[in-house]
Amino acid sequence: MEKTTRTMLARKHVALVAHDHYKKELLHWTKENLQKLEKHTLYATGTTGHLLSRETGLEIKSLISGPMGGDQQLGAMIAEGKIDMMIFFWDPLNAAPHDPDVKALLRIASVWNIPVATNRATARFLFDSSLIGEEVEIAIPDYESYLAKRT
Ligand code: PGA
Repeated sequence: MEKTTRTMLARKHVALVAHDHYKKELLHWTKENLQKLEKHTLYATGTTGHLLSRETGLEIKSLISGPMGGDQQLGAMIAEGKIDMMIFFWDPLNAAPHDPDVKALLRIASVWNIPVATNRATARFLFDSSLIGEEVEIAIPDYESYLAKRT
């Protein structure tokens, strides 16, 4: 599919997700990056969002819990261009009941070319980049021209 571009504003829409064994780690990372995170619009899957907002006071729009459909909800938002970046500490050591949803979420994030951090080191690199506070253009699939050619 051909590409077009989409502009992410300086204030980004950031999704935060952590599987159960990684929630503590995401909480630590969130506390470390509190001042940076406050400058963005935050979303999270249900349990992650409630934990982070309770422990840090951040304003976070919590979706449904991951295993109950939250990963799919987030994936749909990514496809609609409503999420600019995802911090997703998924668990590589334990089986998840919603593994197909986890794969689908990671896949759709790649399709729409959003930056994804799947561990704390990558999250650090993303948030230490000057781009986090700037307007950024990213390449995305040109769905409109694809449709125009098919009809
Ligand atoms: P949770 O979902 O934040 O509701 O625990 C995370 C996930 O498993 O995707």
